[in-house]
Amino acid sequence: MKITIVGAGLFGIVLAHELSRMDFDILLIDKRDHIGGNCYDYLDDNTGILIHKYGPHILHINDEKIYRYITKFCKFNNYKHQVRALYNDKIYEFPINLSTINNFYNVNLHPYEVLDFLSSEARKDSVPNPQNMEEKVISLIGRPLYEAFFKEYTTKQWGKNPAQLPASIINRIPIKCNYDTNYYKKSFNGMPSEGYTKLFEKMLQSKKISIQLNTDFFHDRDYFLKYDLLVYTGPIDAFFGYEHGKLEYRSLRFEEELHYVDDWQGNSVINYPELKYSYTRICEPKHFYPERWNSCSKNKTLIFKEISFSNSSGDPYYPILDKNNMEIYRKYKNDSLLYDNIYFGGRLGEYKYYDMEDTIKSALKLSTKILMKYTGR
Ligand code: FAD
Ligand code: UDP
Repeated sequence: MKITIVGAGLFGIVLAHELSRMDFDILLIDKRDHIGGNCYDYLDDNTGILIHKYGPHILHINDEKIYRYITKFCKFNNYKHQVRALYNDKIYEFPINLSTINNFYNVNLHPYEVLDFLSSEARKDSVPNPQNMEEKVISLIGRPLYEAFFKEYTTKQWGKNPAQLPASIINRIPIKCNYDTNYYKKSFNGMPSEGYTKLFEKMLQSKKISIQLNTDFFHDRDYFLKYDLLVYTGPIDAFFGYEHGKLEYRSLRFEEELHYVDDWQGNSVINYPELKYSYTRICEPKHFYPERWNSCSKNKTLIFKEISFSNSSGDPYYPILDKNNMEIYRKYKNDSLLYDNIYFGGRLGEYKYYDMEDTIKSALKLSTKILMKYTGR
């Protein structure tokens, strides 16, 4: 059986790997000139630093099965993601923890006092039934912390006021009552020792997988549709010629700077929540791999300022999951169900704010579905 997978991102790669272990011949295409989708990384010749071309990607996983699945392809280091935020010219720990609260309010709370303290702050703006991101954050931590760390960052990131965005976005960010600085709630975080691209090359080693880069599905759509099966991981609205309207995404632009010092900011990521900075965060990728530090050039480091904008002129990165877009997506989803040999997957194909763990899970689910349907196994 012959299958085309459109998109050599994480979703397409996991799917190709799984199906190649059965009786499938796979053609994996991507319009970019590399595999890996937004997780793609490369070694910078000038500095020897491993760079994430489309922004920092830290693997964070809760599900033991997904952890075992991905770590069988390569070793991971034990990098723990810890972010700082610059607010009012002062550095704070982020996500909000006991240190952030104590420094912000100039108090000296104990962990067991934090929830009462935040509740009393939240009660000043009674929002009993939060309906959007702004209300949700205020109901959790009160207005002063919301306005300092979330309001303007979110406006820059999404191009919308947080009051127009779903409350669920904030579920990604933990609030900690102790001094824990781990950015995630997940049990595992780390980076693939040799980078994501090398990891993906291992997953695509099978002779049953042919890879065609610089190949846009829409330039030869009829040809690819002749295959027995098609899995499409690009934007779902583009597949249907935008017949129900355009889905909104956010795109990103990265401003790269080379600095002639060993360490420019002392941490992998520093967030800049205030609107006076055009960027949302600055990433210094050297910090993701402390163990590689000696193999990088001395007195050189690269930093990337991340600027968010509407995707009309850039690649689609983040689906904007507000009511209007979800309504449009529902129509495309219904259309997609009319095909029995075309499947849609991944962050763009399913219009979901998937992290890598979710993407791997969804690709494994689809591979099981396809294998059951076509091989009975
Ligand atoms: P993509 O990586 O977008 O791959 C889709 C591929 O399809 C692309 O390569 C694209 O070129 C190709 N394509 C699209 N249209 C066509 C076409 N017409 N023809 C041919 N090819 C086409 N997750 C984490 O777990 N941790 C993180 O720290 C993290 N950080 C992130 C930071 C940023 C800036 C972004 C944008 C995402 C981040 N994510 C993170 C999420 C992670 O990137 C996704 O979960 C994952 O990359 C989704 O994989 P995908 O294959 O669905 O999509
Ligand atoms: N966020 C914020 N301030 C910050 C960091 C995050 O307001 O300093 C909000 C913002 O809306 C962002 C969301 O929290 O989109 C989720 O943050 P996360 O770091 O998970 O975003 P991503 O990894 O997708 O860029």
